[in-house]
Amino acid sequence: MINIEFDLDSTLVEIMKPFEKIMLREYGLDVSGSTQYDLADEFDLSFDKIMKGFAEVYDMIEEIEFMPGAEELLHNLYARSDDPVHIITSRPIEFAEHTFRLMERFNVPFTISMLDYHYDKHNYIRKEYFVEDRRRTAIDLANRGIKVFMPKHSYNKLTQTPGCWPENLNPIDSLEELMPYLHLFVK
Ligand SMILES: [Mg+2]
Repeated sequence: MINIEFDLDSTLVEIMKPFEKIMLREYGLDVSGSTQYDLADEFDLSFDKIMKGFAEVYDMIEEIEFMPGAEELLHNLYARSDDPVHIITSRPIEFAEHTFRLMERFNVPFTISMLDYHYDKHNYIRKEYFVEDRRRTAIDLANRGIKVFMPKHSYNKLTQTPGCWPENLNPIDSLEELMPYLHLFVK
């Protein structure tokens, strides 16, 4: 049985690079290197403009790149467990079909839970380990006893909240770092 579950965007797939290109093209804004997960807090961007940008990215089903190590990790988990991998994402529900089609590109059996709100994520997690890039969610899950790996990005740096990091929260440079621990992720 697989003992780890995954967030999707900026965890298994690279959505920020295409999103940054769209923001530059549409609004002349360079949002790369943002220190905030919520770009509206840092740039002069409305929620509507941000969501329109992400909608265009979600539509790029065939072009979105996998994060380094994601494909290998998912394939190894399936090979060792014969279990589908479980994805828990906060993508808007209207992008369900896009999301399923994107996950099909990994070529492993999977299930997806789509949430309405980030803060609901803990309700859906049933395994010991989770991989999540959103700092607030990662901290919340770790405080609830889930062992969280957080892929590092400009917006989720450790230094931004010194002293507030739960023991269960482990920042990682890449999913490749998890490969030596496969035995922990399959029971
Ligand atoms: Mg994410």
